[in-house]
Amino acid sequence: MVVASSASALPLLRESARAQAAPAGGPFQLAPLPYPADALEPYIDARTMEIHHGKHHAAYVANLNKAVADQPSLAGKSAEELVRQLASVPESVRTAVRNHGGGHVNHTMFWEMLSKGGRKEPRGDLARAIDRAFGGFAGFKDQFGKAAAGVFGSGWAWLTVDDQNSLRIESTPNQDSPLTSGRIPLLALDVWEHAYYLKYQNRRPEYIDAFFHVIHWEHIEERYRKSR
Ligand code: MN
Repeated sequence: MVVASSASALPLLRESARAQAAPAGGPFQLAPLPYPADALEPYIDARTMEIHHGKHHAAYVANLNKAVADQPSLAGKSAEELVRQLASVPESVRTAVRNHGGGHVNHTMFWEMLSKGGRKEPRGDLARAIDRAFGGFAGFKDQFGKAAAGVFGSGWAWLTVDDQNSLRIESTPNQDSPLTSGRIPLLALDVWEHAYYLKYQNRRPEYIDAFFHVIHWEHIEERYRKSR
């Protein structure tokens, strides 16, 4: 009995190691951060980035995979399509897709919108559009900062383009995305406490100021070009 049991234990261990090494079961996967975790120091600290990406974002991916398992009507859709077409997602999983699909899409965009050492302000068409919409970059910064500070509880602040090609500043609760309302996000700021609490604790306004040091404006300008 002892021999038989140890003989069968080995394949089980191998099976378990394989399951852990494989991507989370399902169509959606967590891409690596596009830079090292400490790349945004001191504005956003490495430990926050590791936990935010490796635990929080990873959990949205895993839970989105759970939500779409056994939903053949959703097979082959990208996470962005699911969030855009939330109304057509079966009601039994719509809230899960809204929360975890939104979480996956929002965070994937957010990482790409950040970098350190770039320009502190936009240029070109985006700069002109911001001037027209908000009376200058200072006006934009002020209004965006107020939207971010004004989110009650967990959510996001956004700069978006609407279907009239106008820029808007808005905020969403939880992991809701402007994509669901037909707008295209250009810039996003995660104001969930998990995004800043280790370094900034209750000082969300300091985190918002820090964010303006690590916006990847070249990428935001590219998003604006593609939106038109
Ligand atoms: Mn987050």
